[in-house]
Amino acid sequence: MLELRPNCQACGRDLPPDATEAMICSFECTFCASCAIARLAGRCPNCGGELLRRPRRPADSLARHPASTRRVGRPAAGITSRDETGHDASA
Ligand SMILES: [Zn+2]
Ligand SMILES: [Zn+2]
Repeated sequence: MLELRPNCQACGRDLPPDATEAMICSFECTFCASCAIARLAGRCPNCGGELLRRPRRPADSLARHPASTRRVGRPAAGITSRDETGHDASA
């Protein structure tokens, strides 16, 4: 079952379970569409896999199987190199 992680792992923006712009790889590395497309070119920086749109979970299923609330941080390598302060200037 998908975790439905609550945020983009690149820019940290919130990606609620009903977000249409959430993108995931097969390991559920989770990114917003703008990071996935503009920064990552559709490829997961952690595993190299495809990033595809995350399906939304219907509300009744979400009540029984809630989305993860555990925020997953930035990946250790790759896209963080330009941002050594930990702050994203675009936020
Ligand atoms: Zn993002
Ligand atoms: Zn991945």
